[in-house]
Amino acid sequence: MGQFSVQITASSGSGLGANQHRLAFSHGMTAQKLVDWVLEHFEQSVCDKYGWHQRKLSSMSPEAEQWAAWLSELTGVASLDRLTLAPYRHVLGTPGLAPKSDRWCPHCFLEDKENGETPYFRLLWDIAPATVCLKHKTELVSICPHCQKSNVRNRSAITVPGYCTSCGNFLGCGTPAAAAPEAMYVSRQVGKMLCSRPQLAPEGLVPLIKTVIETMADGKMTIFARRYEFSKSGVSHWLNNGGQPSIKAWLTIALHGGIDMEKLFNAEVADWVMPEKPVQLTLPMAESFRSGVRSRELDWEDIRSKLRVILDRAVPISINEAADEVGVGRKHLYLQANTEARAIGDRHRRYRAGCSNQRIADLRQKIGELLEERLAEGYAGISARDVWTALDVETRSVSGIFEHIAAVLAERMY
Ligand SMILES: [Zn+2]
Ligand SMILES: [Zn+2]
Repeated sequence: MGQFSVQITASSGSGLGANQHRLAFSHGMTAQKLVDWVLEHFEQSVCDKYGWHQRKLSSMSPEAEQWAAWLSELTGVASLDRLTLAPYRHVLGTPGLAPKSDRWCPHCFLEDKENGETPYFRLLWDIAPATVCLKHKTELVSICPHCQKSNVRNRSAITVPGYCTSCGNFLGCGTPAAAAPEAMYVSRQVGKMLCSRPQLAPEGLVPLIKTVIETMADGKMTIFARRYEFSKSGVSHWLNNGGQPSIKAWLTIALHGGIDMEKLFNAEVADWVMPEKPVQLTLPMAESFRSGVRSRELDWEDIRSKLRVILDRAVPISINEAADEVGVGRKHLYLQANTEARAIGDRHRRYRAGCSNQRIADLRQKIGELLEERLAEGYAGISARDVWTALDVETRSVSGIFEHIAAVLAERMY
């Protein structure tokens, strides 16, 4: 066997498994034979546990990384590990990463064929939250249009990419549904993530998560978790026990923080500014972030009427505060009580802009947050004196401080 040549299009994010198929195909050998040959070349024996059909080469596993290294050496193409998810292992948790069944874009397959190329698999297709093709703006497909079977893409020992492993027909046909904007957003972010190897060092993850919480919730973990619907224990796991956020968690941070995945993974957060207006898009995620936890039945009539009461108050509060107060995530308020949520947001912005005494607003917000924290920690009742004790020296010295505390207490402790 002579030198291998393989066409690598890393920017389009083709998966390593796919490249291996292309390699095998262009040499007229089956994928299994290529595997045997590579293993023999490097004097490795096949471990039964990792049968070819089970090997997910686009995964984050050490095996995938090893394959990338071997194939890099054979092909002379550096950085083949970028075609696996291995470089993401220390920043990205595995739950929710692998799709439940193989997907593909028929238009991409068709284009490959029309361009005289062997159809190949794109890495993006192997990342569960990405459900649409960025190029063709249509949904990915997981069922063969000819035989209606799923998982027919590349689970077989003898695979010709782009053809159904069950009935043998070309998978590049059919007209998938147009992509929803939300799904396009997710695929775009996943694409950005795959564009470059993450620059974040393993020890940089905790500082990055701290920056995320600082920027998105003034450093308050409890508020961060509630506002963006993470479990408190999950966030604590990231901060204290070496846990990594799942891809859905990163996407949530990217969406609501108004920052690209690429920037997050490169820790380019120095000039990160939160968007002025809360994002109204919701992530089209199949499963809940809090899997296993049933979502509450919410009484939206009741919530809307509470929001209207908030609107009538003398001192406007922000939509985040209102969300915390009614105990519902901000994005849900925008979805289910849009009129009220917008009115609260607008009123607060006008108030902040025209506030003759900004300091008082800030002070009250500070008191409010402190109070929220205490209540979240399980304090049933709290006195003005308790609040005062917990404030910093500078804040305590503000004239009429007890009046402000009393006003915030009266507002918050309905
Ligand atoms: Zn496509
Ligand atoms: Zn088929």
